[in-house]
Amino acid sequence: HAKSAGRGAARVFDPQMDETAQARIALERDLREALANELFELHYQPLVELGSGKVKGLEALVRWRHPQKGLISPATFIPMAEETGLIVPLGEWILNQACRDAATWPSDVSVAVNVSAVQLRHRTFAQVVLLALASSGLKPDRLELEITESVLLDDTEANLETLHLLRRTGIRIAMDDFGTGYSSLSYLRRFPFDKIKIDQSFVRNAETAADGGAIIRALVGLGASLGITTLVEGIETEDQLASVRADGAQQVQGFLFSPPRPARDVGAMLLPRATPDDAAA
Ligand code: C2E
Ligand code: MG
Ligand code: MG
Ligand code: MG
Repeated sequence: HAKSAGRGAARVFDPQMDETAQARIALERDLREALANELFELHYQPLVELGSGKVKGLEALVRWRHPQKGLISPATFIPMAEETGLIVPLGEWILNQACRDAATWPSDVSVAVNVSAVQLRHRTFAQVVLLALASSGLKPDRLELEITESVLLDDTEANLETLHLLRRTGIRIAMDDFGTGYSSLSYLRRFPFDKIKIDQSFVRNAETAADGGAIIRALVGLGASLGITTLVEGIETEDQLASVRADGAQQVQGFLFSPPRPARDVGAMLLPRATPDDAAA
């Protein structure tokens, strides 16, 4: 087996490893090319306010339009983009495109952009964000940056400084996938988040596990007492919607309202729509 062979030789003669390495190199090369040729596109998914039923914002979710493989999910290429550092130029493209798109929407609709830890840590990040706003003409209070807890795990002081600087301009900061990382609660004390997005796993668990939504209720209550907007992710059914509504969540997002759709469909997503509440009224 490769392990017993000499170090250098192992790589050459292990067909498995060779294949994996080849695939990675190919993916990285494709990713670079895609960036150069602008083969990425942003899809948007509504962030819905429960009280009014209004679309308060749209989350930008990147897709890669691969000439052979079709539309590729970010779960497949974001990790590779982070490892290779390509997330920095890709993230810059995403910010610019999202701000340009949002500048064409009604002025009470915001755009939410996901920011990776690698991107935030990069020294030009704040400048890149401010330039995207300036060149698109989008007001800072229409931009929301979604970060995950991993962002606060490393380089904490520098990252916090960057976030504070951006927040002072009026940009909002949301914590994404809340509840899936470590010591989520302590981070709420370290940084003044404007919003927490409660991870979709809690909606799934509420239906099967014994807690019956107790965690969502607790997190919504926590948000309320800290003056932080709470959004519940991954709403797929009317039952889930009724349940998180009863739990006091302010905003929701999920396939029940709309899957992420291309930018040209944003107009349709913003049209008033029949909700279960309208039917009841
Ligand atoms: P996220 O930011 O938590 O985005 C929400 C994900 O949940 C999206 O997956 C969305 O399509 C999916 N989703 C929304 N509603 C439902 C639902 O009702 N049920 C289910 N099962 N899923 C739902 P997507 O687009 O595949 O993105 C996956 C992750 O990739 C994102 O999670 C985010 O972490 C990352 N990502 C996406 N776009 C970007 C980007 O532009 N930049 C960075 N850095 N990361 C991104
Ligand atoms: Mg997100
Ligand atoms: Mg999320
Ligand atoms: Mg996620």
